[in-house]
Amino acid sequence: MSSKPPLRRSRIVCSMEQIDQQPGGEARGSAGEAGHRMVGDMSPTTSHHDVVVVGSRCAGASTAMLLAQQGVDVVTIDRSRFPSDTLSTHSLARGAVVQLHRWGILDEVLASGAPAIREVSFHIGDTVIRKDIKAAAGVDHLVAPRRHILDDILLRAAEQAGARVRTGVTVTDVTRAATGRVDGVVGRGADGEPVELHARFVVGADGLRSRIARAVDAPVTDQRHANGACHYTYVADLDFQGTEFHLSDGGFVGLFPTHCGEANVWVSTPVDRAEGLRGGVDRNRAFRDLVAEISPAFADRLAAARQTAPVRGFSAMPNLLRQPVGDGWALVGDASYFRDAITGHGMTDAFRDAEHLARTIGAVLAGDVDEADAMARYHARRDEMVSDLFEITCALALFPAPDRFSELQKQLSRCIEAEAESLAALPPIRPVGAFAA
Ligand SMILES: Cc1cc2nc3c(=O)[nH]c(=O)nc-3n(C[C@H](O)[C@H](O)[C@H](O)COP(=O)(O)OP(=O)(O)OC[C@H]3O[C@@H](n4cnc5c(N)ncnc54)[C@H](O)[C@@H]3O)c2cc1C
Repeated sequence: MSSKPPLRRSRIVCSMEQIDQQPGGEARGSAGEAGHRMVGDMSPTTSHHDVVVVGSRCAGASTAMLLAQQGVDVVTIDRSRFPSDTLSTHSLARGAVVQLHRWGILDEVLASGAPAIREVSFHIGDTVIRKDIKAAAGVDHLVAPRRHILDDILLRAAEQAGARVRTGVTVTDVTRAATGRVDGVVGRGADGEPVELHARFVVGADGLRSRIARAVDAPVTDQRHANGACHYTYVADLDFQGTEFHLSDGGFVGLFPTHCGEANVWVSTPVDRAEGLRGGVDRNRAFRDLVAEISPAFADRLAAARQTAPVRGFSAMPNLLRQPVGDGWALVGDASYFRDAITGHGMTDAFRDAEHLARTIGAVLAGDVDEADAMARYHARRDEMVSDLFEITCALALFPAPDRFSELQKQLSRCIEAEAESLAALPPIRPVGAFAA
């Protein structure tokens, strides 16, 4: 591949509110330079590619980047403009940090001002357990970058690798060949103009309410309860050393250190306990009251801090697995698998499966493997990788008594470490032509 321009450095801005306030800045919804990107020589209405990826955040940008690194002609589309925020407390488990490190992106994430997290503490009543983040799987810290920064870094890395990026484009349906195989997508651009893209594979990386999953009628293969709620805000002027978890009966609160010395402060509870956080009430007050019920000591520290963002959250989070492959299509990230945020593992799932899917499609396009076999293996591997995590997440989101909750957290930690080791052992991505060598 020809030499590439250096990556543009992220501007360090703590919040989307600050981006919106910058004169002539990249306001959400503007059609500015970083707003509506269209790269390459595509016709604005119809184009042909090897792969179209719908959704351009953790799952979509990573998949597009890894496909482009193999020399695949890939375009990734998103109805959002970037940089933009999305709902997340954005703490990366070790496996996600391993992926960013292997992909050569971790340094830029740290350079954006997301602090390396080197300590985690668990608080249950008066008991406090502090642990240093040990070196394992090639990384010795964790990180919790804000999404408007991380997703933009990922998307630029995809662009840098050669992926074409189109934002401000909403996909409305898939197209099908005479055989019934999915062979593209249709949608509309920012001004309502029709857009049509054809490809050998359509990848739905378009989140929980995936349009692609609906268009292809992807079966839900496992569905559990939707018992959990997670709400969060950002605070400045709070004293902390690293990630904190505070547990009590029926509630879990904590903080993740993030950009500009701020912390993402979150509260996870059964959905009925978060009723007070529904719209139409003073959500900031309700949030602080809920934190105080769960951890009065943490609430006292919070009272002295400065809240810098409104409370956001998700009540009744589903837990479900979708069939992630079919004739001409595949799903990755939340489109393929959604789970309660209590385990903070969705972005790690997205990074892990993005690589497995990109390798699978790369090998199919290279003619090295039978498509049906390879896609079935991607499906089986996705199931195998998530099965324990899914069980633990569903069990935690039922908020068992603290002893059982702590035991599940230990199981989770073991799963996360094993997953990180397996990701660290993956070989580097190579251009498709080199597969046969
Ligand atoms: C409250 C909460 C807290 C969380 N905290 C954490 C955490 O601490 N750590 C963690 O790892 N995970 C966390 N998660 C989960 C994590 O945010 C998700 O797993 C992750 O965002 C999934 O990435 P994705 O790329 O699959 O989907 P998304 O981030 O949902 O991105 C999907 C993209 O698709 C685009 N799109 C959708 N439909 C269309 C369409 N029709 N046409 C074009 N584009 C479309 C959207 O604009 C969007 O940009 C949390 C989730 C919630 C709800």
